Amino acid sequence: MGGECIEYGRSVAGMPLLAVRVPARRRGAPKVLCCANIHGPELVATEVALGLLAALDGGVAAPLRETAEVWIAPSLNPDGHRRTFELGGDAALSRMRTNDRGVDLNRNYPLPGGRARRTYGLPGAGSTRPGEATYIGESPLSEPETAAIDRLAREQGFVASANLHSFMGTVIPARVTDRGCYRHYQRLCRALSAAQPMCRYRRVANRIVDVFTGEQEDHQHHNLDCWAACIETFSVLASFRQHIRAPTTFWRFNPRVPAPWVENDVPGLVAFFRASLALPRPTEVAALLTSSRTGL
Ligand SMILES: [Zn+2]
Repeated sequence: MGGECIEYGRSVAGMPLLAVRVPARRRGAPKVLCCANIHGPELVATEVALGLLAALDGGVAAPLRETAEVWIAPSLNPDGHRRTFELGGDAALSRMRTNDRGVDLNRNYPLPGGRARRTYGLPGAGSTRPGEATYIGESPLSEPETAAIDRLAREQGFVASANLHSFMGTVIPARVTDRGCYRHYQRLCRALSAAQPMCRYRRVANRIVDVFTGEQEDHQHHNLDCWAACIETFSVLASFRQHIRAPTTFWRFNPRVPAPWVENDVPGLVAFFRASLALPRPTEVAALLTSSRTGL
């Protein structure tokens, strides 16, 4: 299909950070990004990302190439991925989820301009204590993995990004407080779930509740002007059906048979990207709303 593999950086342990660029059928097409596995144990996310890559070559994702150049980064955290396997998937989350400096990479992005970190001790909102599963690191983009994907995103100017995790069966768009973007995210998430044949993921969003915690999609939306959502593949129900008591942490996060989840999520990703490509950029949406209010 004429794809190109690009090393966009190196991890703490020196592992290559890889992305595949699949060109569009026409020149100058906008670019979209699919990321996965920022958390070591979430292997099914990598499977879905690779499923999208395969489906671009004559499969259900092929129509996307008419309108967009597609970039796929199947593992943003290869050190966490490797460590998960070295530990047999059987360890505390904090030992597998993080990079090789113990940082939760999905709490290491800069907060939207001018915002202070206010976590109110919420679980999962990010910890300043090394050794914890959501340790935020020394400073935003202090880690080579986050700095590298940020650099790539700034160079390429992606219009939309889907960031794949497991295992909640949900879509969590970037946190926005303006009504225009909030509604667009409602539609994007609806497009995604409507295209899922087996298990439709529900949207988790609220304009008021929720806080900025240094997550990737918030950074992409507010600082990189990109439509972005976290997609939690697999589902809580399916995970508990598989193992009421999972034999290891790994098996709580991953289906024994990933194929149905890949087949479920790839069409959703295609729908999400196509709907994003039809929208103006987030800053344009906000500007339109302001000008309609002031009558400019
Ligand atoms: Zn995750």
